[in-house]
Amino acid sequence: MASNGEPQQDCLFCKIVAGEVPATLVRETETTVAFRDINPQAPTHVLVIPKAHYPDAASLAAAAPQLMADVVREAGEVAALEKITPAEGGGPHTGYRVVFNTGSGAGQTVFHTHAHVLGGRGLEWPPG
Ligand code: 5GP
Repeated sequence: MASNGEPQQDCLFCKIVAGEVPATLVRETETTVAFRDINPQAPTHVLVIPKAHYPDAASLAAAAPQLMADVVREAGEVAALEKITPAEGGGPHTGYRVVFNTGSGAGQTVFHTHAHVLGGRGLEWPPG
């Protein structure tokens, strides 16, 4: 889907960016917001989104590669804040997963790019 980054009226995550829907913020930068998932699947489950609206990771990367880089960098910053990076000692619950569900067949339900940052428990592979 073509997108120019403009806010979309019916987009839940655009509303979180605008402060119209409350969220538990973890970090904010000029270009991104990180907030806790409302239905966490792990002790750490944070969503990192670009403030601009792009429907999925591929469209974001194609249209605004620096912004995609911001999102991925922020995923790492969130992991460090949550103390789940491998550098935290390599215990059983360090290491984390960054997931971009892309398309409804892969479980995407909100069509505003978001990185799931998951960690704080053992994570199995392959994912379900
Ligand atoms: P997706 O399924 O598109 O990959 O991920 C969307 C995520 O958004 C889901 O994990 C879901 O729990 C989360 N989510 C849906 N509505 C809200 C909301 O209103 N607030 C927050 N913080 N997370 C939400």
